[in-house]
Amino acid sequence: PLRGRSAIVTGSTSGIGLGIARALAAKGVNVMLNGFGEADAVEALRSGMVKDHGVAVAYAPADMARPGEIAAMVEDCARTFGQVDILVNNAGVFHVEPVESMPPAHWDTTLSINLTAAYQAVRAALPGMKARGWGRIINIASALGVVGAPNAAAYAASKHGVVGLTRAVALEVADQGITVNAICPGYVLTPLIRHEIGETAKLRGVSEEQVKTDFLSATQPTGRFVETGEIGALAAFLCSADAASITGAALPIDGGWTAR
Ligand code: NAD
Repeated sequence: PLRGRSAIVTGSTSGIGLGIARALAAKGVNVMLNGFGEADAVEALRSGMVKDHGVAVAYAPADMARPGEIAAMVEDCARTFGQVDILVNNAGVFHVEPVESMPPAHWDTTLSINLTAAYQAVRAALPGMKARGWGRIINIASALGVVGAPNAAAYAASKHGVVGLTRAVALEVADQGITVNAICPGYVLTPLIRHEIGETAKLRGVSEEQVKTDFLSATQPTGRFVETGEIGALAAFLCSADAASITGAALPIDGGWTAR
């Protein structure tokens, strides 16, 4: 019975966000896409989802580094679809740098896009969810939301912050029909991780293939990358009635990474 609900998925023009947007659309959810991209490419994604799933799909170009644009996106979704039932905070960036040579501006943008944007969107979307007594908030954290890794200080700090935000807000609204959870993926071969692989290869002076093999053997006991469709399916489950008692959780989907 998710049909007719509406969702905002931030950073859904690519990778994990797109996988989640598609999984929700497949359940009949109307979706507000967001993220960067060429106008033609975004329109092709939007109209493709309408055609594939028979739901309404809109697009908000909001920059998650700009709080005013985040509030406007939430208002836009409420105006377009009647309400915001589901909020998926997914947009994120990752700079791979040792802590002491990371430009301070990278710290600031990482924290603002990965963490502060989620807070801003939650703040804008919660009043409507409370008024209707139903809501689902899903924050895409990371395995680096629960463990550390070298050359990822800003990213790990932002993702640990996302897990903290998730737990605190979950407790504030637990008795109001609203669940708030974090999904903590391991490595997924999206443009973001392809970029990280490239940067790491440069930093270490080895090939990208070598970095991929090293990443997987060092982190994911399954020996393979997590698929965006697997994360989409988990997000869709968290939105279902069966998941009503799952709240304040930081759910790993990391091929065993954080089990070690
Ligand atoms: P991606 O680069 O494929 O997609 C990122 C999306 O965010 C794109 O749609 C991009 O346009 C959007 N975006 C970036 N900056 C934005 C901004 N300022 N405003 C609006 N949109 C913006 O990356 P991905 O791998 O799909 O990552 C999605 C999320 O998953 C991120 O939060 C990332 O940290 C997290 N994550 C990824 C992995 C992985 O292995 N790929 C693992 C754990 C967590």
